[in-house]
Amino acid sequence: MTGLRFVLKAMIACIALAMVVPGKRTISVIASTPPQAAKRIALSFDDVPRGRGAFLTPDERTARLVEIFRSRHVPQPVFFLNPNRIVHFGDGIDAPKRIAAYVAAGGVLANHTNTHPKLSKVTADRAKRAAVRAGLAARGMMNGYATIDGSDWNMEGQAIAARKAGKAIDMDALRDLYVETHVRSADFGDELARRALGRSPAHVLLLHETDMAGLFLGDLIDALRQDGWEIIGADEAYADPMHRERPDVAWTAGTMIEQIAWEKKLAKPRWYERNDVKVANALFAERVLHEKLGAGK
Ligand SMILES: [Zn+2]
Repeated sequence: MTGLRFVLKAMIACIALAMVVPGKRTISVIASTPPQAAKRIALSFDDVPRGRGAFLTPDERTARLVEIFRSRHVPQPVFFLNPNRIVHFGDGIDAPKRIAAYVAAGGVLANHTNTHPKLSKVTADRAKRAAVRAGLAARGMMNGYATIDGSDWNMEGQAIAARKAGKAIDMDALRDLYVETHVRSADFGDELARRALGRSPAHVLLLHETDMAGLFLGDLIDALRQDGWEIIGADEAYADPMHRERPDVAWTAGTMIEQIAWEKKLAKPRWYERNDVKVANALFAERVLHEKLGAGK
């Protein structure tokens, strides 16, 4: 049976409380030393439908993504929708058709909230996180967290800005930076998880519906597999016992794993460095735009 029936991504930026109805859980047997076990990761896409990127029309982007899912045999990618965008984006006119294409390609749909509000801007005057968690639990939903993040939305934004400014974009370098940033993030997240949980969990990679994905997701999947990762579906990922975690940290920043590591006060580094946009943007300028760092300042 399909466990992932309904997922609600709640309220806090892109890495937030998100909810899945618990279905039948698979029992995961944890060997004491599983060094050869495949690292497992599911693909998730936030903020669907997103606006236009620097390179593709929304239709082209969707066609490419669907072809990548097919050619790479990606099981059950999950798409977190902002339904409000279907109505309010100029490029959202045919969004229902594009979303249907993802479902036809084996994808499952989840909710990223209607309007993508920040938790700090919505009501529930006290103990908001607890209130949100309780409210979602009362509705039979659970957190559809992510455990791996490479801030692809920021790289998409950098490409759009560079295109608007008429700068030359080295597409091979952009592909390499996109792939490398996410593979390193996956390995960072898995290492952090092994320290925080004592095991390698089923991971969820946070991506967005971007031109970066339309152009380079196939390369990223190939590189992840080359690096020892198995691509799994959303049901398997969210059946991991980690879905019961409710990290109590000062705010909901970072991935689920980063929050657990923070709660446990593990030794640093606890954050993937390229999710700092200053670090990411300097890399983009240097490697993709071939700008000398510090030049023109
Ligand atoms: Zn988002």
